[in-house]
Amino acid sequence: MNRPDYQRHSKRVTATRRWQVLRHAILERDGWACVDCGTRRGRLEIDHVKPVRTHPELAFDPTNCATRCQPCHTKKTRIECGHPAPVQSPERDAWAQAVADLAANPNPA
Ligand SMILES: [Zn+2]
Repeated sequence: MNRPDYQRHSKRVTATRRWQVLRHAILERDGWACVDCGTRRGRLEIDHVKPVRTHPELAFDPTNCATRCQPCHTKKTRIECGHPAPVQSPERDAWAQAVADLAANPNPA
């Protein structure tokens, strides 16, 4: 119980028979389609809207579950984990300056 295995919390949920039943119910509810992009293709996953890691009490709450395709699920998870801000670099600044120059003077002599 005290092991630092918080990353495996969702595994403890998804490995249960209760989850298998709930998972099917969520897929039925959402029409076997991703709630974000609407695709029915590829592997559909059940996303915990509030992560099990922080909201274990909602692990089996249907209102906390949504059907998502793998790309949408991955995207959401990455946002939750905090996207790093774009790295500032001299190259990026030079490129931005070049674009600005081109916009100001599209036909340099
Ligand atoms: Zn999707």
